[in-house]
Amino acid sequence: MKVLVINAGSSSIKYQLYGMPGAEVLAKGLVERIGEPTSRLVHSRGDDSAILEEAVANHEAAMELILRVLVQPGGTIEDLSEIEAVGHRVVHGGEEFTGSVIIDDRVLASIERFAELAPLHNPHNLVGIRAAMRKLAGTPQVACFDTAFHTSIPKVAHMYALPYELYERHRVRRYGFHGTSHRYVARRAAAMLGRDKYDLNAITCHLGNGCSIAAVRKGRSVDTSMGFTPLEGLVMGTRAGDFDPAILFYLADKGYDLARLNGLCNKKSGLLGISGVSNDMRTLEKHAEDGDERAKLAIEMFCYRVRKYIGAYSAVLDSVDAVVFTGGIGENSALVRELTCRDLAHLGIVLDPKANGQAGGRESAVSASESRVRVLVIPTNEEQAIARDAFELVGGKSEHGAKGRSVEYDRQER
Ligand code: ADP
Repeated sequence: MKVLVINAGSSSIKYQLYGMPGAEVLAKGLVERIGEPTSRLVHSRGDDSAILEEAVANHEAAMELILRVLVQPGGTIEDLSEIEAVGHRVVHGGEEFTGSVIIDDRVLASIERFAELAPLHNPHNLVGIRAAMRKLAGTPQVACFDTAFHTSIPKVAHMYALPYELYERHRVRRYGFHGTSHRYVARRAAAMLGRDKYDLNAITCHLGNGCSIAAVRKGRSVDTSMGFTPLEGLVMGTRAGDFDPAILFYLADKGYDLARLNGLCNKKSGLLGISGVSNDMRTLEKHAEDGDERAKLAIEMFCYRVRKYIGAYSAVLDSVDAVVFTGGIGENSALVRELTCRDLAHLGIVLDPKANGQAGGRESAVSASESRVRVLVIPTNEEQAIARDAFELVGGKSEHGAKGRSVEYDRQER
């Protein structure tokens, strides 16, 4: 069975075609700069890749182009009917979606309703879904939500200590994001350690441009650092993460308006704001090596914040079996893993410097033999997780037989 995975953003659509159940990537690519005259498609199949420069007016045209490339003579498939399911990444599923679902009118209406909570993402995800529904009419479409894995976070951790009516009236609470990634690496960690997926306590660190960390108890998320929006928590590429919100009132008093404050916290802070050089960890590592003090400070602050959360989540969990590093930085930066885990022996976390240096973005254990907690590097693969959910839902493989609901959906507790 072939499953097409779609990740639609504001001006791009990423796609991967999977052969299931083996999760073999048959083709993948990206249409970027949609709506601009310079739009293009980058398509790859095995070691071959091709770039098609062509004006793509909107998401509908982008979907058409993707499907055309997949079925072109000598292409990956002969006929579009070979695609038996489409899996879509959707950022916000509110409190409603605790797992992936087959999309129907009710699901579409809910995704639209949650656009209020994720105005930068859900509307684009929806456009992608609608375009795919029109171009592949009759093919089941599945939504996989970034928030779903975190719906198991108990009230004590997902509520803010703001007036309760803000939750009742406006649903102001912690939702968390990157859920598909945290779930994927938690499941992989269980497999690597030979444990059942519901028998693992882990702290999963997703460190990319956006960064979040999750406490996973017995396979379920019980806390995470991103909150009502992705701004809260760790230091990120351009987002501040945790800081005293009263700074905003103080700056408002000095004449900063809402739009400026928003841009400041989301686009001009984090690694970029501290270093003044870049939001990119690779660049900062080079600058730090050359003696740039602010680049060094940015890296140290980044790692310090992750350490703080590992400490907090060690307290939240009864015991910790594994700390997992994933995302572009988590998978690739030995320096970040080293600075983060330094002097954490009292929490049972000890790195093996050689294994850490050699991890090189592959699935590997990087903890020392005496480390009580296993430290793992696991490249994330959100697309594969989406493909598996779509396969499970559409291929009728659900353990519990609840039509249209995934296994993970049924195992989540409210
Ligand atoms: P996104 O959140 O946009 O998916 P990624 O997960 O790809 O981003 O992470 C991007 C980050 O990963 C960037 O800060 C980049 O510098 C960092 N990164 C990628 N490779 C390395 C590396 N070898 N060493 C250090 N940082 C790296």
